[in-house]
Formats: sequence, structure tokens, C-alpha cells
Amino acid sequence: MSLIENRAAVGPLHRHVSLRAALGADQQALPMVADMVKTLRPSEPLHCIRPAVISGAAQAFSAAFNGDVLYAVKCNPEPAALRALWEGGIRHFDCASISEVTLVRRLFPGAAIHFMHPVKSRPAIREAWVLHGVRDFVLDSFGELEKIGQEINASDTGAAEMGRPGLFIRIALPETGAVINLSKKFGADFETAVALLQAARPLAGRLGIAFHAGSQCLDPLAWRDAIALAGEVIRASGVHVDVMDVGGGFPAAYPDMDPPPLGAFMAEIDAAYDRLEMPWLKLWAEPGRALVAGGGSVVVQVQLRRDGMLYINDGVYGALADAGALNFRFPTRLLRAGHSAGAPDAAFGFFGPSCDSLDVMEGPFILPDDVGEGDWIEIGQLGAYGTCLRTAFNGFDRAALVEVADRAMLEVTGEFQPV
Ligand SMILES: *Cc1c(COP(=O)(O)O)cnc(C)c1O
Repeated sequence: MSLIENRAAVGPLHRHVSLRAALGADQQALPMVADMVKTLRPSEPLHCIRPAVISGAAQAFSAAFNGDVLYAVKCNPEPAALRALWEGGIRHFDCASISEVTLVRRLFPGAAIHFMHPVKSRPAIREAWVLHGVRDFVLDSFGELEKIGQEINASDTGAAEMGRPGLFIRIALPETGAVINLSKKFGADFETAVALLQAARPLAGRLGIAFHAGSQCLDPLAWRDAIALAGEVIRASGVHVDVMDVGGGFPAAYPDMDPPPLGAFMAEIDAAYDRLEMPWLKLWAEPGRALVAGGGSVVVQVQLRRDGMLYINDGVYGALADAGALNFRFPTRLLRAGHSAGAPDAAFGFFGPSCDSLDVMEGPFILPDDVGEGDWIEIGQLGAYGTCLRTAFNGFDRAALVEVADRAMLEVTGEFQPV
């Protein structure tokens, strides 16, 4: 008998309890957010997933990208979002923890799962390999290469029976102009990457090179430069490399960020690929944000107004983490049960529900001037790094989930040009 019970800190959200009653048993079509708010009058955050938006983004990305598309599960692991991605044709999943691996395997027995975190625990490597059929592992150090080799060989189903693993060497990139840089934490430098490719080649079934341009990377040229650098590493190694994984980082639209359209990124990737002159090389990508950002929103309720600040029932320890320290701005709209007087727009900041003074979001968030206590606000573009960042801090752990038919609150128009 186990003395310690494993407990998820914050589990997946449950569908809103009164939803079935509210919709009627025979209702087939998904509801609209505004109708949901009228019916449910939610006093706790209501997470709204837009399956059609997510499926559409997955289809568009897959159609534009000349290779396999792996969805980065950390960005939004809600089963409703994952099902929408599957609907949109996604069959490959980039996982970083054994819980993500287990979740994807449970939902989709036929999915291809790739373990793309450069630093993994030994039991996670072994469980992924033995129990969940994971074959691809990323690494950026000799320590991790040794770990992966030892765990696979020590398992009852070692490389001899199961074939050899796919090994992916992650390289670090110079600054790319991404909002969130990931190369400070992960990625081998040039010489190490060359040595790792050479050392991994005899152990690997397929050998890959990978990078991540950083999250919300607004500059398509970042991929041109990264692909060229990865190509130089491959040439310097002198070994045959099968796959180049161009990572995630593809941007989404926010009120103060209108990135170039996806096609601009794909054009740079295709041109850089052609310049490599390695036609055998397969391309992979690991988008997260670009597939799901528009597919999620959270409806919050105003509990108090103090001048230009609104005290709302979700905050930086909930789905609005990026609105805090990173000062992301999100699109907002007022949802009011009664009649709206058509007040002019004004700029507001938010305080979250916890007692922590860091639980503040400066925005500005644009709402009608007469917004006040009891009103609901829908905060959009939260399908990426929203719901998944919730904590149970201070007891504000309740929230519900609905799937809705609304469109995204913002779309990329491509008017923004990086300087
Ligand atoms: C977070 C992450 C991604 C997804 O990044 P986005 O910016 O959401 O596209 C892809 N790959 C790896 C290894 C990551 O850590």
C-alpha cells in the first residue's frame, strides 16, 4: 500500500455543472459566450474554449508548414483543446513531462509522442520508453545523452527489442527578438552541439537537430538565421542528420502586437531550407501558442471598482499570469446582464483576487467607462499559457470550462512590421 498519495495541484477543469440543464439535453450546437454568461451568471472564472478556432488554426498551420507539426502540450493541455487539435489533424505531440505523456496517450492511443524537454528525470525517460511508446528524446548535454542511453538499455525493453531511439540535439540561439527567450536556459553551444551529434549518431535510430526561437517571436528572419546556424552545425559534425525541428515560438495577435502573417514565417523557413541543400532532411515544428491562443478566453466578474482599477475574480495566480510580470495586454469586452448604456471606452488596470499586492495587471485593458461591480468581462487570446498556469493560491482554485462557438477575439492582420 502506498503511503503517499499523488495529487495533482490543479487538475483539468470540469464542465460547468449547470451547463447541461442550461442547454437542454438535446442541444447539439455549442453555445455563444454571451448567452452562457446570461444563463450561468458565473461568479467564478469561466474558461471558454473555442474548438473550431483551434481546429482551424491547426489545419492552417499544417497546410502552410512543409513537415510534421508537433503540438507543444504545455501551452494548453485541456482535453477539450487537445481534442480540437486532433480534429484539426494534429497527430504529433511535444511533451515535457511524464504527466503530459500520460495525458496524451490516454486521450489518443494512436498519437506520436515526442519527449522534447532537454532535462528529464530518469524514471520519466524509462516510463515514457517502456509504457507509452515514446521514441524521440531531445537533449543538449552529454549528461542527458548518457542518462537516456542508460535508462533505455536498462529497461526490460531496451534498444535491442524496440529499435533505437530518436535523439534530437537542441542548439542555443543568439537573441531573436522573441518576447520570451528560451536559449538562456536550454541549448548547446556550437562546439558542444557538433560533438553531441557525433556522439549520438551511432546510438540513434533517427538523429535530429532542434532549436526554439523563443516564445512570441515576431520576426520571421529569426527562423532564417536559426536554420542557417543549425545547418552549419550539421556540416561541421560531418554526420548524417535526418530531421531539423524548427521549434515553436510562432506568434499570436494581442492588442499591442500584430505579428506578420504565418505565411511570412513559412516563406523564410522554406527559403532557408532550400539554401541548406540537404534535401533528405525532414522538417518538424513544435508550435504551441500559434495553434491555441485565439481558442481560449476567460470570463471574469468585477467585484469592486476603485477609480481606474477593477478588482476581478481571476489574476496572476490564475489564468492571467502573463498579464502580470510580462505585462501582456489581452483584448477585453464587457458582458452585462442588463441594458448597456453605450458609455465611451476607457483604460483600466486589474487587481486579482488574492491578497498579494503582486497580483496586479496594469494592462491597460479597454472597457466602457461605466464598468462596475457585478459586470462580467471576457478576456480573450488566453488559449495559450492561460488556463494551464492556474494555481490554487489563496484558495482561488475554482473555475469551470465551457466549449463555445464564438470566433477568436483577435486575429492576425499582418499590419505590424518588426523594426
Ligand atoms: C514551450 C515550447 C514550445 C512551444 O512554444 P510556443 O512559443 O508556445 O510556440 C515548443 N517547444 C518547446 C521545446 C517548448 O519548450
